[in-house]
Amino acid sequence: AMYQAKEAGRNTFSFFSPEMQQQIEERMHLLEHLRQALAEHRLEVWYQPQLDDQDRLIGVEALVRWRHPDLGMIPPTRFIPLAEESGLIEPLSHFVLHQALATRERWVRDFPNQAIPRLSVNVSALQFRKDSFVEQVRQALAETGADPRHLILEITESMLVGDVEATVAKMQSLKETGVRFSIDDFGTGYSSLAYIKRLPISEIKIDRSFVQDMLENPNDSVLVSTIIGLSHQLKLDVVAEGVETKAMRDALLASGCRLFQGYFFSRPLPAEDFDQKYFRA
Ligand code: C2E
Ligand code: CA
Ligand code: CA
Repeated sequence: AMYQAKEAGRNTFSFFSPEMQQQIEERMHLLEHLRQALAEHRLEVWYQPQLDDQDRLIGVEALVRWRHPDLGMIPPTRFIPLAEESGLIEPLSHFVLHQALATRERWVRDFPNQAIPRLSVNVSALQFRKDSFVEQVRQALAETGADPRHLILEITESMLVGDVEATVAKMQSLKETGVRFSIDDFGTGYSSLAYIKRLPISEIKIDRSFVQDMLENPNDSVLVSTIIGLSHQLKLDVVAEGVETKAMRDALLASGCRLFQGYFFSRPLPAEDFDQKYFRA
């Protein structure tokens, strides 16, 4: 009830209802399981390919997965916020980053004759805001011996509001080691173009809501073309996400997009399946 009152702003209060009691118990229960899963290394990292216009594998996005023994797959959109509220996000983020970098290092070792794609990893808002963020990334790179130049960190527009100077400083210090930044879900927030120009980013990812509606809705189609044109003007890469059909890919290609990610190419896969599909063939 206190949190709900806080969320609604100060000087307000909420009553505690039986439904809330039940919700809280469910969350506590889930949180306890998450804590255990993390401690026992039962979280998994899956990988989704990114392809260019020649169907070459140019990147992979790491996506965390939690298979609950009773509840089945729990989507990250459900447990990431829980981890953020409880302080578990730091160890969880470190686990994902470490695991993903280690997997990429294994690909480099196991498939010496193949071009190993770059690796994109999602950053949570809370993790990014912490003073320890830069150090955390450096540490994962050092632990795995990974080359920072193959790592892209995905942040969202909403993380960029607030202390601009601190944000730029953090990004800049990682950029100096070779790490790149991408703006995820681009177009769903409200960052100004002037702001984007100031940030040391190298890529924009067009949110899948625009990609999915562009075939039916001319407004979305115009938006997508504009984002692509803008990105190219600013010399940024642009990746379209949520590409589910050939028609979507073709429309994006016609708008000048060259990098794609989505179910049309592949769903996210466990590392071993990714190996089989992309490196052994
Ligand atoms: P996101 O970063 O935008 O990731 C893309 C999401 O879209 C993934 O969902 C992916 O499975 C899904 N997707 C990919 N292609 C398609 C498609 O063609 N159609 C549709 N409908 N969906 C597609 P997922 O894995 O459930 O992740 C959801 C969100 O959870 C992510 O959105 C990201 O914000 C967050 N997330 C996932 N893994 C991590 C992580 O390791 N750390 C943090 N901080 N957040 C994560
Ligand atoms: Ca992402
Ligand atoms: Ca996204």
